[in-house]
Amino acid sequence: MGSIQAHTFRPRDLVGGHIIIDLVNTVTARDTEPIDWLDGYPRLLEWAALTSQFDPVALTVLQRLADTEPDNAALALDRTRELREALHDLITTLIRKDAPASPQAVDQVEKHWKHAVASARLTVRGNTPQPQVNVETSGLEYLNHELALQAFDLLRSLPLERTHVCPGLRCGWLFIDRSRGGRRRWCDMATCGNAAKGRTHYQRKRQTASNRATITRPTTSSSTHPVAEPSA
Ligand SMILES: [Zn+2]
Repeated sequence: MGSIQAHTFRPRDLVGGHIIIDLVNTVTARDTEPIDWLDGYPRLLEWAALTSQFDPVALTVLQRLADTEPDNAALALDRTRELREALHDLITTLIRKDAPASPQAVDQVEKHWKHAVASARLTVRGNTPQPQVNVETSGLEYLNHELALQAFDLLRSLPLERTHVCPGLRCGWLFIDRSRGGRRRWCDMATCGNAAKGRTHYQRKRQTASNRATITRPTTSSSTHPVAEPSA
């Protein structure tokens, strides 16, 4: 992992289409020099609150626990990072389909999932029995347990043809394309999409400018540069 940088999470950081993909995307610039935006356990809580997928009361309990046990909170964050990186490795291999999944990544995900299940109760919601964890039992590991359970659900149903790596410069985010046409190319049109459009526009403008310069050069010039014929 590259550097760790403070970052205030905004809604536009959650464009992955699933909380687990958004977790993987708490590292940016994976295509160049990765930057980890989770610079502390409070930041993880900030991110968790923004996802709106956790009970705010549970997040307040976690904040209090982190205040009184900062060392354990730091260890919990280390485990979040470990799970996140294993998921990144596993998901990118699955969607590329050009190599078998790394056994280490699978082992890591398995380990996290087992820890989560060991703390879970089987509860029936609607007509679906599912493992459920809570902050009272899991303590500072609550987010890790919840994320591990959700990761397991996602991995079993990940739409491989619709999961992509954003080709944006200094991005490398993953996203699930849930658009109707399935032609989403960028993590976010407003950031990577526009940046790419800006670059193409700039290159086109430069191209046009240099063509014009070549064309308007007087043909009687003694310049040794070859003079391009205006194209038809
Ligand atoms: Zn992007």
